Amino acid sequence: MTMQFIDLAAQQARIGEKLHDRIRAVLAKGDYIMGKEVAEFEAGLSTFCGAKHVISCANGTDALLLAMMALDVKKDDAVFCPSFTFAATAEMVPFFGAVPVFVDVLPDTFNIDPASLTRAIQHARTLGLNPVGVVPVDLFGLPADYDAIEAIAAEHGLWIMADSAQGFGGVYKGRTTGSIGRIATTSFFPAKPLGCYGDGGAIFTDDDEIAKRLQSYRVHGKGAHKYDNERLGMNSRLDTLQAAILLEKLAIYPDEIEKRQVIAARYSSALANAVGVPHVPEGLTSVWAQYTILLRDEAQRDGLAAHLKSAGIPTAIYYPRPLHRQTAYGGFPVDPNGMAVSESHATRVLSLPMHPYLDEPTQRTVIDAIIDYVK
Ligand SMILES: *Cc1c(COP(=O)(O)O)cnc(C)c1O
Repeated sequence: MTMQFIDLAAQQARIGEKLHDRIRAVLAKGDYIMGKEVAEFEAGLSTFCGAKHVISCANGTDALLLAMMALDVKKDDAVFCPSFTFAATAEMVPFFGAVPVFVDVLPDTFNIDPASLTRAIQHARTLGLNPVGVVPVDLFGLPADYDAIEAIAAEHGLWIMADSAQGFGGVYKGRTTGSIGRIATTSFFPAKPLGCYGDGGAIFTDDDEIAKRLQSYRVHGKGAHKYDNERLGMNSRLDTLQAAILLEKLAIYPDEIEKRQVIAARYSSALANAVGVPHVPEGLTSVWAQYTILLRDEAQRDGLAAHLKSAGIPTAIYYPRPLHRQTAYGGFPVDPNGMAVSESHATRVLSLPMHPYLDEPTQRTVIDAIIDYVK
């Protein structure tokens, strides 16, 4: 048996029958686009996280794009994004003629550093940009520091668009991600904590007006009906089949989040003396999209990854290069104090096998191999 980094087959074994029933029901009915499962799933997400409106769409990147359309992002607007994230977080911003301004992250949570955000806002103003919004990322499943970000956003009149592609279902001091921010977005890419069997995404908001615009933008800017085009939109819908699959996955998601806590706690207690383990601040719950450790330096990180690979243990590096160091993003502004944490972490992070079905003996193998290498 080869060890899985994320074991989707184990989840399928658990709910396989139900998935097949769901898929068969869609095939029998044939309503592949916007079938009843789509609305049913949106309602389930709304109940789950508490957001008033949920608009599903084709993927997490489109969710970010649609959200920026609804917020009317414009030329020379500055949108603040962490640099230590997946490219999609910042990718849509330049399509509006707006400018992503990169913010550093905190060393212990890997999420937006509020002090860096404040510096980046001042810096954007000196560049003649118009600061309009911030895109906090709930990296690796851990909610960002929303109290601090909300205070800064209120002071500077910014909207918050939470990129919770990795963090949907996480809790920040009693609030579930999806319900935090003017808008929140998520992704159902198969490897995300709540994933489908293809591409999928969703947008969350309490704002009736924004919700109305999103409904329209995702179907060619429709008005009262499909052939009434009020605005330029796009085609970005969640397939009925994916919604049907996600309904069964959402049903077990709370239990899976619980299981992820147990596995993360087991890693942390066993590894805390050997490597840097993830820090979860008081009052927060991570959904553990990744369990990411910090090594001393790049040599130790790469050595450990090779050691684990030779022992048949898969690992991944999220992310080997911060966005402001990427060819596509290198020309955009950054925190004037520099991006030390993003740059250092890119050389030191290593993500371990993490999923709700990781059994204790298998996890023991991973832990022993790490301790064996770093001791
Ligand atoms: C996966 C991911 C996205 C994009 O989601 P897709 O569904 O793959 O388009 C956006 N932001 C972050 C942080 C992600 O991890």
